[in-house]
Amino acid sequence: MEYVRELKKDGVIRHIGMSSHNPKIAALAAKSGFVEMILFSINPAFDMLPAGEDLDELLSEGYRYDKELSGIDADRARLYRLCEEENVGITVMKGFAGGRLFDEKRSPFGVRLTPVQCIHYALTRPGVSSILCGFDTKEQVDQAVHYEDASEAEKDYASILANAPFHSYRGECTYCGHCRPCAAGLDIAMINKYYDLASMQPEVPATVKSHYMLLEGKASACIGCRACESRCPFGVPVAERMKKTAELFGC
Ligand code: SF4
Ligand code: SF4
Repeated sequence: MEYVRELKKDGVIRHIGMSSHNPKIAALAAKSGFVEMILFSINPAFDMLPAGEDLDELLSEGYRYDKELSGIDADRARLYRLCEEENVGITVMKGFAGGRLFDEKRSPFGVRLTPVQCIHYALTRPGVSSILCGFDTKEQVDQAVHYEDASEAEKDYASILANAPFHSYRGECTYCGHCRPCAAGLDIAMINKYYDLASMQPEVPATVKSHYMLLEGKASACIGCRACESRCPFGVPVAERMKKTAELFGC
């Protein structure tokens, strides 16, 4: 690291980044103060698994995500929030889990996702700036590039995952935006994201608070109609969370 920092000081390199498959290691980098971006493996399947570096294990065939797993692994969720807070950009790799997610027989969820849905999942994690997509054929490149003009319905990974035979996202906000529109005009996914970012800390971080304050609609404007809850595929108690968010941020 000293060598890399020297090179940066001398202007040989402009920015410092690193790559990892392990959320605990990546979190150390995010907290280091000099790693500016992290290349990290993110997809809905990996997100359920505890920290590890063994990609073969992560990609192994026949692996089922059983009921013992509950939602996004805490270390992974913490990493994404930490990166957002520390302004460390994440570039996603393995967004398609090596293509496994395109095949219901190989997907741990028992349903297939499209490249557009996988890209949308990756890009809606806190801290994520971009995704690098793997491909074998020109058609696969076209399918990924289609993200640029895809409709909201095409991007919707939430209803696919929520109806899958195997998943464990119950009660957890994935920031999918499926609950739109809010009767009070709130950006529910973004408010939930800031709530998660802030509530993991003993005190609300100033950066998160300032981002929250920039939102046009604040959680306190929620009228508790729960229309959003009927549209949330993961059963998130949105109205209750809006109350907690208003308490946490004071508006
Ligand atoms: S509350 Fe539900 S529908 Fe809305 S963003 Fe979160 S997970 Fe998606
Ligand atoms: S319960 Fe609150 S957040 Fe949900 S639609 Fe109604 S006003 Fe919006």
